[in-house]
Amino acid sequence: MSARTGKAWLFGLVAWCAGIALQLQQETLWAVLVYVSLASLAGGAGWWIHRQSPAFGNRTLLVGGLLVCLSFAVTGLHALSRSLAIDPALEGQDLDVVGVVQAMPQRQDVGWRFRFRIEQAWRVDQSGQNRAIDLDTELPSQVYLGWYGQDGRHDSGWNLSALPEPVKAGERWRLRVRLKAPHGHLNPRGFDYELWLWEQNIRATGYVRTGVKDPSPERLASTGRHPIESWRQSVRDRLLTHLAAVPGGASSAQHSGVIAALVTGDQAAIERSDWDLFRATGVAHLMSISGLHVTMFAWLASLVVAWGWRRSVLWGFAGALRWPAPQVGALAGLVLAGFYALFSGWGVPAQRTMWMLAVVVVLKLSARLWPGPLVWALAGAVVLTWDPWAMLQPGFWLSFVAVGILMATGNAWEPGEKQPVWASVWLGRVGSLVREQFIVTVALAPLGLLFFGQISLVGLLANLLAIPWVTFLVTPLAMLGLVWSGAWDLAVWALQPLSVVLTWMASWPMSSVSMAMAPWGFAALAFVGAVVLVLKAPLSWKLLCLPLLWPVLFWQAPRPEAGTFELLAADVGQGNAVLVRTAQHSLLYDAGPSYSPESDAGHRVLVPLLAQMGERLDTLMLSHRDSDHTGGAAAVLAMQPQAALWSSLEEGHPLHSLRPGWTRCQAGQSWVWDGVLFEILHPPAQATGMPLDKKTKPNALSCVLRISHGTASALLAGDIEAPQELALVASGLQPVNLLLVPHHGSKTSSTGPFIEALKPQVAVVQAGYRNRYGHPAEPVVQRYRALGIELVENTRCGAARWVSSKPEVVHCERDWARRYWHHTVPP
Ligand SMILES: [Zn+2]
Repeated sequence: MSARTGKAWLFGLVAWCAGIALQLQQETLWAVLVYVSLASLAGGAGWWIHRQSPAFGNRTLLVGGLLVCLSFAVTGLHALSRSLAIDPALEGQDLDVVGVVQAMPQRQDVGWRFRFRIEQAWRVDQSGQNRAIDLDTELPSQVYLGWYGQDGRHDSGWNLSALPEPVKAGERWRLRVRLKAPHGHLNPRGFDYELWLWEQNIRATGYVRTGVKDPSPERLASTGRHPIESWRQSVRDRLLTHLAAVPGGASSAQHSGVIAALVTGDQAAIERSDWDLFRATGVAHLMSISGLHVTMFAWLASLVVAWGWRRSVLWGFAGALRWPAPQVGALAGLVLAGFYALFSGWGVPAQRTMWMLAVVVVLKLSARLWPGPLVWALAGAVVLTWDPWAMLQPGFWLSFVAVGILMATGNAWEPGEKQPVWASVWLGRVGSLVREQFIVTVALAPLGLLFFGQISLVGLLANLLAIPWVTFLVTPLAMLGLVWSGAWDLAVWALQPLSVVLTWMASWPMSSVSMAMAPWGFAALAFVGAVVLVLKAPLSWKLLCLPLLWPVLFWQAPRPEAGTFELLAADVGQGNAVLVRTAQHSLLYDAGPSYSPESDAGHRVLVPLLAQMGERLDTLMLSHRDSDHTGGAAAVLAMQPQAALWSSLEEGHPLHSLRPGWTRCQAGQSWVWDGVLFEILHPPAQATGMPLDKKTKPNALSCVLRISHGTASALLAGDIEAPQELALVASGLQPVNLLLVPHHGSKTSSTGPFIEALKPQVAVVQAGYRNRYGHPAEPVVQRYRALGIELVENTRCGAARWVSSKPEVVHCERDWARRYWHHTVPP
């Protein structure tokens, strides 16, 4: 291929990907006819130009533009082919469904979750007259179901009674379920759950009803479908049973999840404490069979097979001469990685990595001498055409960059000059393998900064140790366990010293550093800089590219001007969490709910949000003890060691052990930050400090915080109810511009006199989508509307941002970042 043709192809591929990127910006999808017309126009025009003169010559720009239009239209049609979301009329209704379990269930801390394909469905009527549901127009056939113990949650806490694995992959079941539209939390640069579900074509989620009045779930048959999933499940069960039976194995039981993840790709099996350790030390990529893992596996397998092939020539296998070892190695690597990906559950990340690798290998085999960057770009373009939404997923970029780096750094196992001692040759080769993996890790570190706002400083050191340990010792032993289960004991045993060292490393100061996430433009520049730094480029190039990293390294998120303040009501579901920022200070009012014993708003939303904003909290204020306000507190306090704790929690509450020098909030306290006044209006001093009697609800003790400067003010009211509201009115309430609606809009709060005294322009409700309490209550909503107050709900708005210098405006993340896959809450 001539250099000129190569450049034209590269330009064309980039244009094609640009069209896909552009389509991902659409807020709503167009009609089929519009996309079809656009595609035919662009295609027709391209064909006509080609007829005029086959060499595109100086019409490159025009051709590029046509390619953008064509890929835009093709991606639009692809998006239209996704299933329809569940009909809103069916959300939350009792449905009887018959269908097949598609994949092995994954452990959740209060039950199991699995993918289910519905074959028939009926809506359960009060009168017993069940109505059949049309699967194409009312209900998507593929859903994601949870099966939890009894009610899942009791007032006294979580029901942790062990629930046996309820279903097996390939079984047909009749279940009573409740479903809802795919709805997730939408926070600035946070994880987009709705996109994740869309990419997998899951358009409804829900849970199995197992109450006393519900018909018990019925296993109808074993269909023999999904045999690989069924095999994975039996291997995982055998593994976990085997390791649980090992005597004296508290730590082996803990690490058994890691072994299960390495063998079957079931990351949900890994304990959260292990995950935290792996994330803190930057080695999490080793434990999850992701795109990166499959790439590394393919690469390693190809090197080993190519090496063996060369050896076989020396040992007299003449056939080996006919096919060159690198090609045989590449093909074998692809096939083996395919098996591995298939056995690891054939998830979307593994599938797209296989596509990428297939393009690289096919081009290598077809003896086309395409330049490396072109092969790389083609691999990326093929994957994005097949799965356009991958472009917004960190996983795609991690494996795409890994493939590029492994292509660029050359083959460590090419035969070099003869060395006298066999062992030293081996050591050299293993050494270079480790080096290549290390280069990939180093190059991927900036991506971590880009996508998660975090970089693990001990990560480089930890990887130096963990990569060879896990790749050459733990994983082979875990795999060997498939034929001899004793190897699983050895794998757990091999994991323990690593775990000890990693725990020690994680305890180092500055082990993990979070930085404010720079805008995408700077991030892209830094990406280019990092790629050049690790390539075999001239030193002068590397020096020139170094400044490209600076904007990302030294980025500071913009702050409110002195004398003003900003509120960010995070989208955490059913619970409160409001970040208050002034020019130099910040306070987090409540820490959101806990979602399950092992998952809370702190880990899932607030810690990443604070990290990507580069925010150092001065204070965490917990209004009261209810878990929808304190659920994420432990995670936030751990990540923000300098933050002081204010609360109305009773003496001896476990959270106080994290901050022994905590402050009790009492009416009358106040302070000024950067010209902004903070005042505590409630609870009165005499009400606090006493143990709660049976009659006093924790809600009544909520810390009420008023924030104001000359022209604008806000009131954060926790979960206070009517008596506390009326007491506050009696003590003389000043009007405010913004009110955080008390008790999530419950009918026990937001009394008429309270709202009339405050006269807010904007009222923000933090409540979960289809929450069990029916918050915000309809009469309360009407009360605000009747007074002409704008009511902003997190479920419709996502994270809501409000700045005191423009008190009449609320910025909604769902408006600002709206895309066609996002759920629109019905009015
Ligand atoms: Zn609450």
